[in-house]
Amino acid sequence: MSYVDDVIASVSAKNANEPEFIQAVEEVLESLRPVVEQDDRYEKAAILERMCEPERIVSFRVPWVDDEGKVQVNRGFRAQFNSAIGPYKGGIRLHPTVNQSIIKFLGFEQTFKNSLTGLPIGGGKGGSDFNPKGKSDGEIMRFCQSFMTELYRYIGGDTDCPAGDIGCGAKEIGYMFGFYKRIIGRYDNGALSGKGIPYGGSLGRTEATGHGAVYFTEKLFESLGRTIKGTTFALSGFGNVTWGVADMINKLGGKVVTVSGPDGYVYDPDGISGEKVDYLVEMRSSLRDRCEDYADKYGCEFHKGEKPWGRVKADIYMPCATQNEIALEDAERMVAEGTCRVLVEVANMPTRAEAVKCLKDAGFVIAPSKAVNAGGVAVSALEMSQNAMKLSWTEKEVDDRLKNIMYNIFNNIDAAAREYGMEGDLIAGANIAGFKKVADAMLAQGIF
Ligand code: GLU
Repeated sequence: MSYVDDVIASVSAKNANEPEFIQAVEEVLESLRPVVEQDDRYEKAAILERMCEPERIVSFRVPWVDDEGKVQVNRGFRAQFNSAIGPYKGGIRLHPTVNQSIIKFLGFEQTFKNSLTGLPIGGGKGGSDFNPKGKSDGEIMRFCQSFMTELYRYIGGDTDCPAGDIGCGAKEIGYMFGFYKRIIGRYDNGALSGKGIPYGGSLGRTEATGHGAVYFTEKLFESLGRTIKGTTFALSGFGNVTWGVADMINKLGGKVVTVSGPDGYVYDPDGISGEKVDYLVEMRSSLRDRCEDYADKYGCEFHKGEKPWGRVKADIYMPCATQNEIALEDAERMVAEGTCRVLVEVANMPTRAEAVKCLKDAGFVIAPSKAVNAGGVAVSALEMSQNAMKLSWTEKEVDDRLKNIMYNIFNNIDAAAREYGMEGDLIAGANIAGFKKVADAMLAQGIF
């Protein structure tokens, strides 16, 4: 057995009840075969084994009192995966599906993503199985304060800087920051990013993930001889990321025809633009988690319980919802439908391994999420820099940096794939480029 096979076998055995984590590890390690085969320093220093084991993971009780006076108990997590190139950095996901497998897969992916940004940030991820759906502001605040009562021990501007993710936006970050500051008795605003503008947030952070994903796509399109102008996009999700993607696609002259929620997808052939894009924000902040509201308001088709993949005509599919939303049957439908030949993943790991294989075999260009959605965490790192320097950049200054970072990510992963004879395989390119910087930093720092 080769080094990569050995590590995949041992990680799978050790983490047998964590399927999402195993899926992420397998995908990355498969891409790294040529790199570790050409250079035995990685095997000698057990770099792959160490990268697959979080430096630390904490799990804790989060008790809070609901509006009826009943005590609720959730489980909180923080995985501090890798600090070779900087303090741990990554979001906090608040969703009922959160468990250790999800947090570990996200923390593992984050290490590579953060490395791709070119900024000094290590990989981490946290969250809780708390469900924000239908909760009052008071309930959300009490949950966030209880969560922070434990989390504060592990974070700090030079240690670990959490931010938002699914179910955790500016409101939740505000409640967490307020309580963190009270517990530690200092204004350490580098300990959380995605903060509001009046207290150290960065301009442009809210739209960064979505806008960054479209900047990346611009560069990808350039390499394919296409433009965003005149192109039709099918998106999933309707939260902050979908909103940012739709906003920038419209700005660059493209057309968005679908968005989706857990209840089904909307098909709007006239294009989701203008006030309809703003309405997505309203839908998300209602905490109803319901996409049919859009179809009711704008009188367009709603497809209950379905996703748009292979069911609508679009040039590009951009899944922006959550992990594993494209299964093998969706991929087969996409291939059979025949219009779309490009999948730009925005959500983390939205495509199941069998579906990726099916699409690759059919000649699809696949842009992996760890590259595409890195703009969010990149602007979070810019927020940390602004906090450290005690200054604020203008929206244009942040946007120029974001654009530059996203263009560089495309160029670097494209070049990494070429260097190892896998031209056009952006998944391999992202894994290789993300790996090398972290692995070389680990080699230089000895065994830790
Ligand atoms: N949750 C986002 C991510 O997964 C943002 C993390 C951050 O800004 O630290 O990259």
